[in-house]
Amino acid sequence: MAMAQGQAARATREAVPPVSRVAIIGGGISGLAAAKQMAAYDPVVFEATPSVGGVWKHCVYRTTRLQTPRPDYEFSDYSWKNRDDPSFPTHTEIVDYLEGYADEFDLWRYISFGSKVVDIKFLGGAEAGFTELWSGTGKDPLRGKPMWEVGIVTGDSNTVQYYKFEFVVMCTGKYGDVPRMPVFPPGKGPEVFKGTVMHSLDYCKLSEEETVELMRGKKAVVVGYKKSAIDLANECAQANQGEGGQACTMLWCGPCTGWCHPTPSGACRSPCSTPHACLSSSTSGPTKGSSDPSSAAS
Ligand SMILES: Cc1cc2nc3c(=O)[nH]c(=O)nc-3n(C[C@H](O)[C@H](O)[C@H](O)COP(=O)(O)OP(=O)(O)OC[C@H]3O[C@@H](n4cnc5c(N)ncnc54)[C@H](O)[C@@H]3O)c2cc1C
Repeated sequence: MAMAQGQAARATREAVPPVSRVAIIGGGISGLAAAKQMAAYDPVVFEATPSVGGVWKHCVYRTTRLQTPRPDYEFSDYSWKNRDDPSFPTHTEIVDYLEGYADEFDLWRYISFGSKVVDIKFLGGAEAGFTELWSGTGKDPLRGKPMWEVGIVTGDSNTVQYYKFEFVVMCTGKYGDVPRMPVFPPGKGPEVFKGTVMHSLDYCKLSEEETVELMRGKKAVVVGYKKSAIDLANECAQANQGEGGQACTMLWCGPCTGWCHPTPSGACRSPCSTPHACLSSSTSGPTKGSSDPSSAAS
């Protein structure tokens, strides 16, 4: 019963009028914030997937957490319920928080899920004063006449449906779409390497069991060096720490500028005070001064 009520409260947009004032493309954190700000215009939010949350729903690993404290990743008009909790929120908590924001400001009714924008045309022409609209002159960019035509495909359909708008807000993000695979010189890429090569966006699509199966007993190299890479290296190591597996120590050495890395429990490590420090995911705690690459992943 409670679930039925929750679903009823989250009734989404079923039909898009042929002409509307505002289109918002994307239902991640940016699209939700834009929808709230433009609610007076009854905006249409086109979201390609069946859910809000953007990368926090679709581009995360089992261990992905926010790397900023809760108060630093918060809408100014909607606080985290457990704002003082010092742990870094999991991706599930973040999606709950974003859904709570949509509940709070009744944003679901603007959202058209499963609607992928495939085409946008500017209808105004050069004489429309397009540059002026964006020049910061304070003029209202809503001109009272359609300026944009937006093409949508829904579901498995190949048919593009077009709708007209006065104003379009792009909230499509920059991390959740096309994998950026490195290009290797001839003879130094996949034709000579016989192992599995996978982009993190594809790894995200695997279940927990599949990721463990993929990594167990393998020598893994993580290409890239930021938060996502560290999360992935952790997961590779964890997949090999079961019975008969070998616990390993991972070390990351590099300049530290106050950036801190959540521990497996989600609590914040103290930011390091030295210009070069190593963070370790092993139970033995941070190790300084070691950079043995053989311990990086096994
Ligand atoms: C693994 C990971 C960890 C991160 N950690 C942090 C962090 O700790 N702190 C931090 O501040 N930031 C972090 N980020 C950055 C994160 O991208 C932003 O915090 C934020 O989620 C971006 O929100 P967004 O709404 O702009 O974009 P997104 O979350 O990418 O949402 C874009 C939405 O647009 C939709 N969309 C895209 N194209 C179309 C289309 N053609 N038609 C219809 N819909 C479309 C997508 O389906 C998606 O729902 C992280 C990102 C990743 C991937």
